Amino acid sequence: MKAVRYYAPGQVRVEHVPEPEPGPGEVKLRIRASALCGADVRIHRHGSHRLVPPRVLGHEMAGEVAALGEGVTGWSVGDRAQVIGAIPCGACAQCAAGRLNVCTVLEAMGHHYDGGFAEYCVVPAKVLAVDGLNRIPAGTGFTEAVFAEPLSCVMNGQELVGVGPGDRVVVVGAGPIGCLHVRLARASDAAEVFLVELNKERLGRAAALVRPDEAICAADGRVTEEVLGLTGGRGADVVITATPAGEALEQAVHYCAPRGRISVFGGLPKGDPLVTLDANTVHYRELTIVGASASNPGQNARALDLISSGAVAVADLVSHRLPLERFLDALDIVERGDGVKVTFEP
Ligand SMILES: [Zn+2]
Ligand SMILES: [Zn+2]
Repeated sequence: MKAVRYYAPGQVRVEHVPEPEPGPGEVKLRIRASALCGADVRIHRHGSHRLVPPRVLGHEMAGEVAALGEGVTGWSVGDRAQVIGAIPCGACAQCAAGRLNVCTVLEAMGHHYDGGFAEYCVVPAKVLAVDGLNRIPAGTGFTEAVFAEPLSCVMNGQELVGVGPGDRVVVVGAGPIGCLHVRLARASDAAEVFLVELNKERLGRAAALVRPDEAICAADGRVTEEVLGLTGGRGADVVITATPAGEALEQAVHYCAPRGRISVFGGLPKGDPLVTLDANTVHYRELTIVGASASNPGQNARALDLISSGAVAVADLVSHRLPLERFLDALDIVERGDGVKVTFEP
């Protein structure tokens, strides 16, 4: 079968590899759609300590059940299914407390296990054990279902930071994740949603799709003034930084309203994670700054429901549908910020 395998930083090959077969408790999927994520681009550039090469990449995927390993019940060949990205152990103290996405031994598809950038993928027994294989409702396409993974991470971030009715929300970063943040905040009845982005073209493209109440180009250097102006001087109730730029967090404290909340959604570059925060502003305004990482299987299932019900539209976020052979082109598109979401239909 065709597969995209990672060997070392800068070395990803589209090659023919033997088809995997499911062991006991595992399910073999014929992949019908998968999508590229910023994390895949980072692996290609810098590698990952969580990943032993050669490894089939890809943690956003959906397909048809092609074969069942011994002992698997509840699934049949031909069933349509979507797979979680982060795989909790289900047994550690964090998992026991229901915080499965911060499992102390969290693993991931496309990192510890061969992922979805291939014609077939074996879903590990661990995924089934935590209800991480989701049935795709009739009427929902494979490509749409793939978005359940990134949307579940967005949902985790918004649940932790508490986006709700009446909130004035600023989303910083107009990539696919920023777009999903805007749409989920709308679905949660946020009063207003503003989208901030440095790259003017990318901002324009995203704004045309998700229609924020205002699109603010950070290159103009007036984000704080703009947000304060748009909120009658009050500031934002919630700021979500969906970008790897530390300045976004440094700036956010200045346009956050008293008692405002900030989601540090995007990680910063590995070698450059430090920021300089005005701690007095955090102190006097009683700001809350909260991290967000991955998602838990329950959120993934709910994200798929939101997509299927139409509460969060995703199909129009696909800017490029490419064959797996063009994987390197896909990396280029994402790195240049030229598209929104790039998907594969192997
Ligand atoms: Zn991802
Ligand atoms: Zn655990």
